Amino acid sequence: MPPSRDGLTDARGRTRWPWVLQHHVLVGVLALRLRDALTATLEAQVTGRRPDPDDLAILAAAVAEAHAAGALALDGSLRWRWSPAELASVRHTVADAAYELLGGPSAPRIGECDGPGCGWFFLDRTKRGNRRWCTMRDCGQQAKTAGRRARRGGAG
Ligand SMILES: [Zn+2]
Repeated sequence: MPPSRDGLTDARGRTRWPWVLQHHVLVGVLALRLRDALTATLEAQVTGRRPDPDDLAILAAAVAEAHAAGALALDGSLRWRWSPAELASVRHTVADAAYELLGGPSAPRIGECDGPGCGWFFLDRTKRGNRRWCTMRDCGQQAKTAGRRARRGGAG
C-alpha cells in the first residue's frame, strides 16, 4: 500500500486533521469575503461611487494581514512575497495586487465589461480608453453577432 498523503495514517495525524480542515475552511471563507469586498470596491471605482466603508475595512485588513505575513524581496523592483506552501498566500497576493491597482495610477483605467451578465473587470490599456469588453473573443464577439442580427432584423 502506498504511503498516505492525507495525514490520517497515525493517531497524531488523525487528531490534527480537524484543525487542518478548519484552517482551510477559514482560509476559504476569508478569501470569499475578500472577493466580495473587492468586487464591490471595484464596482464603486468604475461607477464613480464612494466605496462602502465596510468593504474598505475588509480590504484594509486583508492588505495588512498580507504584509504582516509576507517578506519583501528585491528582484528588479521591491515586491511582497509569500510562501507558496501557505494556502493563504493566494489571498495575500490578491489583496496586495488589489491595493497596488486601486491605489496606483491605473485605477481610473479599471473598467467593467459591457457584456450582459458578464461583470468581469479589466484594465483598459487602449490609447483612447474606450475598451468595452472583457475579451473580444467572448463578450465582444457576442455583441457583434447580436448587433448584426439586430441590423438584419431591422432591415428585413
Ligand atoms: Zn465580458
